[in-house]
Amino acid sequence: MSLSPNQNAALLPGSALSGAPLTLGVMGGGQLGRMFVHAAQAMGYATAVLDPDPTSPAGLVSHHHIQSGYTDTDGLAQLAACCAAITTEFENVPAEALRTLATQRRVAPGAAAVAIAQDRAAEKAHFGRCGVACAPYAELHSVSDVQHVPDDLLPGILKTARMGYDGKGQVRVADRAALGRAWADLGQVPCVLEKMLPLALECSVIVARGADGAMVNFPVQRNLHREGILAVTEIFEGNLPAPLAAQAVADARAVAQGLDYVGVLCVEFFVLADGRLVVNEIAPRPHNSGHYTQNACDLSQFDLQVRTLAGLPLTPPRQHSPAIMLNLLGDLWGRAAPDALPDWAAVLALPGTHLHLYGKQQARPGRKMGHLNVTGATIAQVHAVALQAAAILGIEEF
Ligand code: ATP
Ligand code: MG
Repeated sequence: MSLSPNQNAALLPGSALSGAPLTLGVMGGGQLGRMFVHAAQAMGYATAVLDPDPTSPAGLVSHHHIQSGYTDTDGLAQLAACCAAITTEFENVPAEALRTLATQRRVAPGAAAVAIAQDRAAEKAHFGRCGVACAPYAELHSVSDVQHVPDDLLPGILKTARMGYDGKGQVRVADRAALGRAWADLGQVPCVLEKMLPLALECSVIVARGADGAMVNFPVQRNLHREGILAVTEIFEGNLPAPLAAQAVADARAVAQGLDYVGVLCVEFFVLADGRLVVNEIAPRPHNSGHYTQNACDLSQFDLQVRTLAGLPLTPPRQHSPAIMLNLLGDLWGRAAPDALPDWAAVLALPGTHLHLYGKQQARPGRKMGHLNVTGATIAQVHAVALQAAAILGIEEF
């Protein structure tokens, strides 16, 4: 294949190379990769997934599954050989691997943007450069830093700078003694201490940006987290006061622009008790809070991921139905009897329910097994059905 790595030319759907359909690749085989694969295949692309797990959700449905580690030279060479362009589905893919791939193929988002999203300290510095407010914080690298963080940051949340997700790698600390213990428990790795803020609510914005700088966004999603894991997302006209929603969209676009980002980016925010908006973190990929777009919008976040990667036009996505998304965690399995599935038949008997399961064989507490999108004519209807579904499944009322 004679594609130069930074070529922005469109990789047109349906085009073939030596008789084989063009292949789009993804680093990581989790549920986000699986839904990327589905969207790419719907447009006629072949897909390749690199993930060491032979039963990875995306690997199971992809044309090609390269079962290697993310830094394995042979695996990366195989991926580059079979793909015209490569994206990523989780931020902990080593930026170095993306850099290696980018010497041979189009890679989006780029290593530099992913490297910033991988590191909470770099991420916060980026917010500062973009003029977007985040929680007050300090970086911790040494025992001396622990002793000298300003009192004002306590009580706070200690977060490892790297590799955290779903509330993992985080400890709430009441005072300096607890901070010292928590930092030791986290292995004295580089961390940030964030001031514990009084949250009124949480929300997120997903933007898609092309290599030509064109940018579109989804409406602001209102998110409910439980035990550090997203539980429910609600998206309807008026779910947030209009000025706040406009601010969140403007901030998200500024963050993407500042990264010269190519791909789908999620920006998570806190709305504080006093009404202020502060940015929490970014995810350089589609996001759990955007799964409702599969059924409630004319283009899903995964469709836009495919378009940005392939260099296809971006049109503003339109939400055609109010929606609520319920995350389906492994806790819901085995409730009625040890091997019992959740009562899908009862849930699917409700109007406007769309079930998405990720093909994971083993249900474990806290493990994301799937999600349920509920759509309907009005938010009142959607809310009523979502509550019925939650009651059937054993999800706590919201
Ligand atoms: P994920 O990657 O799944 O979004 P994460 O592990 O990166 O999660 P964060 O988003 O940093 O974690 O935090 C998880 C949750 O903890 C937040 O959604 C919020 O509910 C709470 N939280 C985090 N930081 C703060 C803070 N400074 N003040 C108050 N609550 C916070
Ligand atoms: Mg988060």
